[in-house]
Amino acid sequence: MELTNLYGLPQPLVAAMRRFDALRGDLDQRERSITCTRLIDSPRRVALERTHGHALQEDASTRLWALWGNAIHQLLASQADATCLVEQRFTARINEWTLSGQVDRYLLQDRGEYPQERAGTLQDYKLSSVWSSIHNDGQLKPEWVSQLNVNAWLMEANGHPVTQLEIVLILRDHAASAAARDPTYPQVPVLVLSVPRWHPEETQTFIVERLARLETALYQGQLPLCDDTERWARPTAYAVRTPTRKTAVRVFATRAEAEELAQRTLNAFVEVRPGQSVRCERYCAVAGFCDQYQAESRRLAA
Ligand code: SF4
Repeated sequence: MELTNLYGLPQPLVAAMRRFDALRGDLDQRERSITCTRLIDSPRRVALERTHGHALQEDASTRLWALWGNAIHQLLASQADATCLVEQRFTARINEWTLSGQVDRYLLQDRGEYPQERAGTLQDYKLSSVWSSIHNDGQLKPEWVSQLNVNAWLMEANGHPVTQLEIVLILRDHAASAAARDPTYPQVPVLVLSVPRWHPEETQTFIVERLARLETALYQGQLPLCDDTERWARPTAYAVRTPTRKTAVRVFATRAEAEELAQRTLNAFVEVRPGQSVRCERYCAVAGFCDQYQAESRRLAA
């Protein structure tokens, strides 16, 4: 993967991105070796990245938040002491594969300071938007839950019992003014979120199923289709609008519901907001090699 700098970002930022890429190395390139991050990703994306990695380009401008996330991990590493494991990679063999995951922070013993931290807590630090914390019906992103549970499984396979899972979410776009106006908005830019723990057998089944999909994609040449979650799909929506309002009166999932309200509302009309695969369109480096995305683009253009 070549890192470009089309927008002339300052050299130290781009150099840091290249350094992080080099440190990451080729963990996902070795035969039947996979990191937790790739295991929970779409097998189609992983397979296309492996096949076309040398021809892929990513611009530094799209990697800024990832760099900030890496900086937080560096900060964590500087806080390591005898009470916790920080930024360590754990590995286990399963079904002829080597699975590895990097753990942000794991408490080896209770820490009595405020807030109290319990031994066996596994924490993952994430930099994300307020949207991720409050606009998703209060649900954690499924990939966050999978990642924490797979890392917990890896830790236990290496003799470290895990008692609870937490995400420390740093809100990169937090606005103090919104917090003052709205009591349901996060009041501070850092949240500690509890993550549901899967039964270890459930986690193992999840890992085995994901490895089977990867096996098919990487070694049997059959690329499974990315599903809606993997494509970050947003369905088509139908907005009821009037000429005098800037925002929609209401937005519906079906045209019939929108037209019914529009008929009862003076001068109203229905605006179709086409569905999108947000990741394919903006965030997937292999989109240029993906026949699923290209077929979808042709269908929408027709
Ligand atoms: S472009 Fe979309 S469909 Fe294709 S691999 Fe990427 S996320 Fe999946």
